Amino acid sequence: MKITAIDTALLTVPTPKPMSLEFAHHKLVVAEISTDEGLKGLGYSLVFGGGGGEAVLAYLEARLKPLLLGEDPLHVERLWEKMYRGDRGVRRVGIAGMAISALDIGLWDLAGKAAGLPLYQLWGGAAERIAAYGSGGWGRYTEKDLVGEAEKYAALGCKYYKLKIHHPDPKANRARVETVRKALGPGVRLMVDVNQKLDLQGNIRQAQLLEDLDLLWYEEPVLADDLAACAEVSLRIRIPVATGENNYTRYEFRELIERKAARYLMPDVCRANGYSETLKIGHLAAAHGVAVSPHVVHELSLQICGALSNGFLVEYMDWQPPDLFEEMPRCEDGHIRVPAKPGHGMALTKTALQKYRS
Ligand SMILES: [Mg+2]
Repeated sequence: MKITAIDTALLTVPTPKPMSLEFAHHKLVVAEISTDEGLKGLGYSLVFGGGGGEAVLAYLEARLKPLLLGEDPLHVERLWEKMYRGDRGVRRVGIAGMAISALDIGLWDLAGKAAGLPLYQLWGGAAERIAAYGSGGWGRYTEKDLVGEAEKYAALGCKYYKLKIHHPDPKANRARVETVRKALGPGVRLMVDVNQKLDLQGNIRQAQLLEDLDLLWYEEPVLADDLAACAEVSLRIRIPVATGENNYTRYEFRELIERKAARYLMPDVCRANGYSETLKIGHLAAAHGVAVSPHVVHELSLQICGALSNGFLVEYMDWQPPDLFEEMPRCEDGHIRVPAKPGHGMALTKTALQKYRS
């Protein structure tokens, strides 16, 4: 089999309320890989909030696409290495990591279709239904928005809900967490997300104010670049730390593990150089008894959790308009079934490319 064409597009997809209070849209960098045998693979990278989507597409088009044309798409590992080592002067983090991710996801979609298997089964098959947590709780939500969103996920059976703690006053964050806790009752456990906004002292102060609330985790406390600071926070606070959505390679994750910087690792398949690297990160975590709870894009991450015995929760953000994907995996009884179609199982609708093209 040979790759004959890679058609790309940048989609700008509006978000619904209340998420739109924080992000008006997200962007998708789409790459459809065609072959001489008629099989096609769909790859895409979700650029959350949209920032940098144009650059991801430009790097993919100019530097990565030429490396794949004419190649056998079933040699995914070899092609991943070719892309990863393509530009020695560009590290495979940020923009470049997102671009490699889109193509790697498309190559795996092809490989699954060629084998006639959903990817989680191709990779070994650990679980076919994955527990999901409701996620959102952005800083610009009113308390009413916050409780409304949390209750929506609880009504779908989700046993966990995550909210942001973005207020500069740690007591105000505590009050918001308490409000949600009171509204949901003891059947739903909460997580909080700092989104890299605090330093070491700020985190210690904030976490002390939340310690008695039985939180599942305390997420992304410091700048994702500073693995040492994350480890220090992890050592100094009494809530388990989760991090990794802005880390990109097995080498960064190895360091997070070795430094005991987190109990939960959260690679994003659209950032961390695709399925290939995310699987390696997942297996590395298994060797250290660390759970993997992938960041957003649950429709793609389900395949990862379904392949890992240490896969834990997928992050469920219900934002996609109904005309974006042909079939979005549904949350029932707090769980989402891993798509059973060959490949990753996701397909854009016929109208999505025209309607949302930037
Ligand atoms: Mg986060």
